Amino acid sequence: MTAEKATGSALQAPRGQTQKKTFCRICEVHCGLRVDVDAKGALTGIRPDHEHPVSQGYVCAKGTRFLEVANHPQRLTHPLVRQPDGTYQPVSWKEALDYFKARIRPILHASGPHAIALYLGTPVIHNALGALAYVGLARALGTRNMYSVGSQDNDSKIVASRLVHGNEWIVPIMDLEHADFALLLGTNPAVSQGTYMHLRGGTTAFDRFKKRGGELVIVDPRRTESVKRWGGHVPIHPGTDIFLLLALLHELRDLSRPNARVSGLDELLQLAAEYPAERAARLTGIPLERIRELSSSIRQAERATFFLSVGVNQGPFGTLSAVALQTLAYLSGNFDQEGACCFSRGALYSAGCSN
Ligand code: SF4
Repeated sequence: MTAEKATGSALQAPRGQTQKKTFCRICEVHCGLRVDVDAKGALTGIRPDHEHPVSQGYVCAKGTRFLEVANHPQRLTHPLVRQPDGTYQPVSWKEALDYFKARIRPILHASGPHAIALYLGTPVIHNALGALAYVGLARALGTRNMYSVGSQDNDSKIVASRLVHGNEWIVPIMDLEHADFALLLGTNPAVSQGTYMHLRGGTTAFDRFKKRGGELVIVDPRRTESVKRWGGHVPIHPGTDIFLLLALLHELRDLSRPNARVSGLDELLQLAAEYPAERAARLTGIPLERIRELSSSIRQAERATFFLSVGVNQGPFGTLSAVALQTLAYLSGNFDQEGACCFSRGALYSAGCSN
């Protein structure tokens, strides 16, 4: 069952309750939600918002299940301290903070602030005060080691955009709505939208894409839910996506044209020359003819778009893969135009680009 079907579609609040519009904060796609609130102000239901201009009623399995998290008997609602025997003892907030200070101070004293790392989950990232408190705590401790879900999910893309465009805001987004070819690596959009994906109607965008004859290629070691739903599977050995991307760059190197605004492309193509399709086939496990077919599809596509996500970001060459993917889009003429890899106006504004 698809996530959007599992959540139901009723728009009316149950009798005696009011309905409010909000959005899911579990990931940065921010799918629209409607929540039912009873007379005492308690949440009693969460449903997809079919009138949301972007998500249009799409939610993944997580979005509307949050009440189960909020009401779960094992939800942490007060501090617990782990005991030597492995059990947990409830303590007051004052005791918890005293415990924290007693544990942290000796570490700071003995090893310095960078011996301490902080990690921020998405719900706190999407909470203004929580995010500010996180930064405040890191500064108070003096540690440079700040991690978040982005460290696993998308930091490599952000660093790649800083390398490619000089600004971390300028991360390309697929224009799947107008593309006729799409290459996806390490992502499983049938289960949940990806970071920097933002599709109209969520995963239904892929249904529309397939319906109008778009060619979808999904590179993934696993036969994912997306592969089962849309096909186009290219199995690959885990962590070897970079070799496929370099091989594709090498196959398409003849498309390179001098451009005064571009530097470093020759160096990247020199690196790509070390990974011709034959070598990439051995490294990735993808048959040589399939790699050649892929490069030919990209070459022939009128409008091709490219996307990689967590499966590649977490691999050994996440940042280089993101640079190579952007280069593939540029080299094949699929950068910053309809049906290609595009840049949102909001990101350009944030980056200080005036045009
Ligand atoms: S894709 Fe899922 S987790 Fe992300 S915002 Fe939408 S409903 Fe929430």
